[in-house]
Amino acid sequence: AHTLPKPPLTIKLCAPRGFCAGVDRAIQIVELALEKYGRPVYVRHEIVHNRYVVDGLRAKGAVFVEELDEIPAEHAERPVIFSAHGVPKSVPADAQTRNMFYLDATCPLVSKVHKEAEIHHRRDREILLIGHKGHPEVIGTMGQLPEGTVTLIETEQDAWEFEPKSARQLAFITQTTLSVDDTAGIVNVLRERFPDIVAPHKEDICYATTNRQEAVKAVAPLVEAMIVVGAPNSSNSQRLREVAEREGCRVSALVQRAADIDWDAFDGISSLGLTAGASAPEALVEEIIGAFAERYAVTVDTVRTADETVVFNLPRELRQTGHPST
Ligand code: SF4
Repeated sequence: AHTLPKPPLTIKLCAPRGFCAGVDRAIQIVELALEKYGRPVYVRHEIVHNRYVVDGLRAKGAVFVEELDEIPAEHAERPVIFSAHGVPKSVPADAQTRNMFYLDATCPLVSKVHKEAEIHHRRDREILLIGHKGHPEVIGTMGQLPEGTVTLIETEQDAWEFEPKSARQLAFITQTTLSVDDTAGIVNVLRERFPDIVAPHKEDICYATTNRQEAVKAVAPLVEAMIVVGAPNSSNSQRLREVAEREGCRVSALVQRAADIDWDAFDGISSLGLTAGASAPEALVEEIIGAFAERYAVTVDTVRTADETVVFNLPRELRQTGHPST
């Protein structure tokens, strides 16, 4: 049979993309806990927001629950791991009351924000958290302090409408995975209204979020369409999709797997940007490239805007001993 030649497609791969140091560490904690303690190991909430990762760990013996009380009484002595997003203070307290053995996979950059909140509180400052309502990181950060202590600011309008509850000095902190540009807009409003508001020393939006958005900004003007590999409940992935759209990509889609691609939307393109959220494994990026290669004559070209060297230590319980190289 005679087949038409495939149309050419240049894929511009954003770099950095995909796993950040916090996600890498969280996944390692589950894997090492399974090796060390056997199965099952419980994990409170999706360890990172990616179904492929979660399914893979489930196959190895991880059991995912939303709350500690879902862990059956006869398994109360099994390890339980808290997800990378962080947890309210009540969760480890609850685990302690129940004599549970827990490992905390909260990203150190989220823990840093938790500490900032505590310091502001101790210095008697009224605290604003810029973030998205309902995201587990926001629930965890707000839950570092007594209920009602932290006020959530989601939009510039919230920042305009906010009325301090007290005559105390104000401080703000942020979720780690926000849009750099949207957050700057909100912070500008707060600074305009409250010139003395205390800001983070180094901003709370993490290096991985910032770098992935920068890479999309560099690539978006060079391509017609953008695919972000990531889950709909992944905050940083959603932000990447928005950045691409704002930078003028005709199509900007968030997909979990190649099977999710709406091929009609990409019809007729000759250039595509490709990135992945901080919780999406590289295997899924390769799967997407493979799916395009079945339909197009693909050339892949990497656009690197930053190098990343961040690595976080594992919890003490899981650090290997006796191997000088590790
Ligand atoms: Fe940590 Fe940033 Fe990764 Fe979240 S996105 S886990 S804050 S490094």
